[in-house]
Amino acid sequence: MRTAVISDIHANLEALQAVLDHIDTQNVDRIICLGDILGYGPSPVECVDLVAERCEWSLMGNHDFGVLYEPTNFNVAAEQAAYWSREQFDLESDNGISAKRWEFLSRLRVRVLEDDFLYVHGTPRRPINEYLFPEDALNSPVKMQQIFELVEKYALVGHTHVPGVFTDEPDFYPPDDLDGVYKLDGEDKAIINPGSVGQPRDLDPRASYVIIEDDCVRFFRLEYDIDAVASKIRATPQLLDWLGERLYEGR
Ligand code: ZN
Repeated sequence: MRTAVISDIHANLEALQAVLDHIDTQNVDRIICLGDILGYGPSPVECVDLVAERCEWSLMGNHDFGVLYEPTNFNVAAEQAAYWSREQFDLESDNGISAKRWEFLSRLRVRVLEDDFLYVHGTPRRPINEYLFPEDALNSPVKMQQIFELVEKYALVGHTHVPGVFTDEPDFYPPDDLDGVYKLDGEDKAIINPGSVGQPRDLDPRASYVIIEDDCVRFFRLEYDIDAVASKIRATPQLLDWLGERLYEGR
């Protein structure tokens, strides 16, 4: 089975469309999403509709939670974006469609376990809000150990927007160090982050995602029309301009 895993779309329709177009050439059996469909970007409604249509399931990220319930621990720009996103869902004149979207969001799960794979947005111990940063592999041995204790074999996490693979040595390998492919040998535990579709933060502005195959995980990067997204953000007073500017730098 070939599963495409996308994460952290952040209402960036152009990036999501570029990734879905690429996935369509990769002969995958299904697409799943690790959450943060919403937040920061200018196309929340369109992104929710596309995820609902194209993904087998999605998890709930902290920004989806923020739009649905309340934004907690957000900076001003993120909080403003959350309230603005919520308004966009309520602007819809057709109440049936609007209610269906809220229903979809409210049903997103925080944790999914399928065979050898555990899927969460943040970390296995705090699935919505905790970050697992590359530097934790060096600086936080206790955190790494506690998190790996909760992983049977493999986990997929998003949230940091930094793609790569954590091993329980502990260590972290960016996709370039792996030539874009991590082998699943069945012996070592690993936590894999597919990176972010709509707001990469590893100084590479291209959209990021992975495909899980039977014996490996493959990382992909794709260019998309950042100008189009940045100009939509500039045209929306509730979304601060730097939310668009950061997309060019991948940070
Ligand atoms: Zn995110």
